[in-house]
Amino acid sequence: MQYTKPLARLIEEFQKLPGIGPKSAQRMAFQILKMPSAEVQKFCDAILEAKEKIKYCRTCFNMSSEDPCEICTDTRRDEHMICVV
Ligand SMILES: [Zn+2]
Repeated sequence: MQYTKPLARLIEEFQKLPGIGPKSAQRMAFQILKMPSAEVQKFCDAILEAKEKIKYCRTCFNMSSEDPCEICTDTRRDEHMICVV
């Protein structure tokens, strides 16, 4: 099926996500078109905010909005003690 260019582009972008094939990408794109513009904006903002603010803690390599992360900066923790599971 031939889609109009902006829709084809949206489907193409969704297909870049892991586990998203052409059918799922189409469903997601159609859902976006049904959503109110304000909801779509919120969606875009969440993606951009996560991308801008989330980094990796250089101490424990966990994802965090701070570097070092909230856990590594917690002074109540004893850095000489580890938990082995
Ligand atoms: Zn950390």
